[in-house]
Amino acid sequence: MAYQTVNPFNNQLIKEYPNHSEADIEAALKQADALYHSEWSKGSIDKRLPVLHKLADLLESNQEELAKIASQEMGKLIEQSRGEVKLCAQIARYYADNAKTFLAPVKYPSELGEAWVEHHPVGPIMVVEPWNFPYYQLMRVLAPNLAAGNPVLAKHASIVPHCAEAFAHLVREAGAPEGAWTNLFISSDQVAAIIADPRVQGAALTGSEKAGSAVAAQAAKHIKKATLELGGNDVFVVLDDADLEKAVKIGVQARLNNAGQVCTAAKRFILHQDIAEEFLNKFTEAFRQVKMGDPLDESTTLGPLSSKEALETLSQQVSAAVQKGAKLHLGGKPADSQGNFFEPTILTHITRDNPAYFEEFFGPVAQMYVVNNDEEVVRLANDSHFGLGGAIFSRNIERAKQMASRIETGMVYINWLTDTAAELPFGGVKRSGFGRELSDLGIKEFVNQKLVVVRR
Ligand code: NAP
Repeated sequence: MAYQTVNPFNNQLIKEYPNHSEADIEAALKQADALYHSEWSKGSIDKRLPVLHKLADLLESNQEELAKIASQEMGKLIEQSRGEVKLCAQIARYYADNAKTFLAPVKYPSELGEAWVEHHPVGPIMVVEPWNFPYYQLMRVLAPNLAAGNPVLAKHASIVPHCAEAFAHLVREAGAPEGAWTNLFISSDQVAAIIADPRVQGAALTGSEKAGSAVAAQAAKHIKKATLELGGNDVFVVLDDADLEKAVKIGVQARLNNAGQVCTAAKRFILHQDIAEEFLNKFTEAFRQVKMGDPLDESTTLGPLSSKEALETLSQQVSAAVQKGAKLHLGGKPADSQGNFFEPTILTHITRDNPAYFEEFFGPVAQMYVVNNDEEVVRLANDSHFGLGGAIFSRNIERAKQMASRIETGMVYINWLTDTAAELPFGGVKRSGFGRELSDLGIKEFVNQKLVVVRR
């Protein structure tokens, strides 16, 4: 695809970016490989970590400019863009402060003798990232790999080239050597060729199932490790004993953040029948209050979808859902304005034979389900091809904890939306992918966990 910045608020083309050539790719591979074999990667972690500290500082001092770039390029509300930049600084600092401990040798008691596991870099990694969190997604792979000593070749989504360049520029400014992070404007075929290259040792992708499947298949073909962070169809469970005001407020936020384009957004609301009507009324009222507009305007509460294509896809999904029997409780179509706006939408009466039951709706569309008891909650929650996150609202924490343990996802939050933080593992099961990012688990994905034994 062509790399271009198009403002989703008015669909004006701002800038086109030329693709990198085969020669550029070969130069990037050479540089990454040379860096991996240098003292930078093989030597002490103490040399690498100051880059992450400096990067955190730079992100903070450039927050406003970076936030504007993201909002103009993919439509995120300006305050949410600022929050994303702040989170990136936290992740950089977290690995700067903790990576040395995570990668320290670990002793293994054994009858064979003195044994320990060391952690070494494995080599250049290919990463493919989506547009919906145009900095955070990059930081999730940059920070742990830079700390571990793996050079990274990065292909960002074709609709956020400005964010990709701004991020790469800051990494260089922070003192990372050439090759530590190389931004490439390349095609899917070129991604496949890079994964096949013997110098590359792994691949990480965040995005759709289709892209994930292509990248993981290529990695498997060439016997390389892959991690996948894919889509989700997360539940937002409201039990009969929940704090309803809070559940409504957080539920609306969980569905409308980033214009609903979040892998862990609340997509399926599962309501206990005793509170279902009241919840739905309050939720609907809150959806009605939403103010669509320019993401750079501080008073806007719902921005546009990221692209014209995203708007078309969502419109088609909602129409198909209704055709197959779902009831439109609110909204249901593109807004009558310029840009890629979709009305805040609520669907009810979705049956299992409706394709919408299993699909991810990447936009401000909430599905409502009503159940009678906890067993039904768990059954419905787990009746999904995805397994990313989920939320449970209840005043009875023990009840919520038991339910959380039974939900087949990588993450569950109680009395909060599915969130993220540098120190917490992020990832899913089923078709939401495999592997974890962030925390101590994330940094262990692409390191050689090498056993050394001194025989007694
Ligand atoms: P997408 O089309 O899969 O794009 C994601 C990235 O993959 C882009 O850089 C894209 O490049 C690239 N790509 C597409 N096809 C490829 C292929 N065959 N080989 C190599 N690279 C390929 O995803 P999207 O629809 O834009 O993003 C939304 C999806 O990502 C949703 O399903 C969402 O839930 C998921 N997501 C998951 C997480 C998580 O952590 N689990 C986080 C955020 C988003 P182009 O832009 O050039 O096509």
